Amino acid sequence: MDRGCHPQGYGAVSPTPPIDSALRLEYVANFEYSYAAGRFASRFMNALRTEARIQGTRCDACDKVLVPPRPVCGLCLERTAEWVDVGPGGVITGYTVVEVPFIDPMTGIKRPIPYGFAFVRLDGADTNIYHFLEESRHDKISIGMRITAVFKPAPERDGTLADIIHFRAEEPATDE
Ligand SMILES: [Zn+2]
Repeated sequence: MDRGCHPQGYGAVSPTPPIDSALRLEYVANFEYSYAAGRFASRFMNALRTEARIQGTRCDACDKVLVPPRPVCGLCLERTAEWVDVGPGGVITGYTVVEVPFIDPMTGIKRPIPYGFAFVRLDGADTNIYHFLEESRHDKISIGMRITAVFKPAPERDGTLADIIHFRAEEPATDE
């Protein structure tokens, strides 16, 4: 009987399972895989990695610029028409300060708290991305505040939004 994907190490069916118990097979599945990011995401990621450049695509029908870039506009379902540079500056459109520790799924480790986390509307874009803020004090963050992307040094960039370390206030906070 085919029990699905069990390339290695499956087995260990109890020889005398209770008649009313569910059949359980215990095994550790190790899958290594890679997948194609696609034409649009590949171009977006390469521009981040090689040039610290953030790009979106503009829809001809509604004139909105979508970031990250998409081949089809989610608002009017038309194909996007051209690539445009956005940011690295922008404004905060929503934010929170995270004060409860949890495992960062991107790194597998706890991120030190507190930290600011925001929706960011990059200059030239009509959609938000979300990202970390350098600032973590509630009273130093506000909706509409100008911020700019801080990129990792080129050798450390790998072509993801994590190539942006965080967003920093364009005007340094004052401690009044
Ligand atoms: Zn559109």
